[in-house]
Amino acid sequence: MAAGQEVLAYCGRCKLDLMHNIIAHKEGNSGPVAKCQCRTCNAIHGFRNLKGSAGTVKARVIASKRAPRQKVEQIPCNVEWKRQLEEAASKAEVPYSISANFGVGDILKHPRFGVGVVQQLRDSTKVEVLFQDDVKILAHNK
Ligand SMILES: [Zn+2]
Repeated sequence: MAAGQEVLAYCGRCKLDLMHNIIAHKEGNSGPVAKCQCRTCNAIHGFRNLKGSAGTVKARVIASKRAPRQKVEQIPCNVEWKRQLEEAASKAEVPYSISANFGVGDILKHPRFGVGVVQQLRDSTKVEVLFQDDVKILAHNK
């Protein structure tokens, strides 16, 4: 970087990371910046490393935004399963069979996966079923 170029530095007067004109370098024209002039307040001062205050604020905002979102995203399978079973408590449990015809919200009992709640019909022969620890696609109506 030659003198006359610009550098992003911390201005002690503005208390911000701002563009500065480089006035002098420590070792020749390519050495570290020794002196710079703030383009905002025109103060000439030694080069100060960026405080990164803006970056810190940004990081904090992202972190606080991310925290509640994770809670919403990650509803454990078994919690949702339990909630849906409680909601459908009045429904009869139908033993799962490949020839049975299930509808959304039906409760079925699978010999291997246990009790499940039908989430949606994939097509005329496939249903998506929520079990205690996983969502499975089962064949039906065959
Ligand atoms: Zn300044």
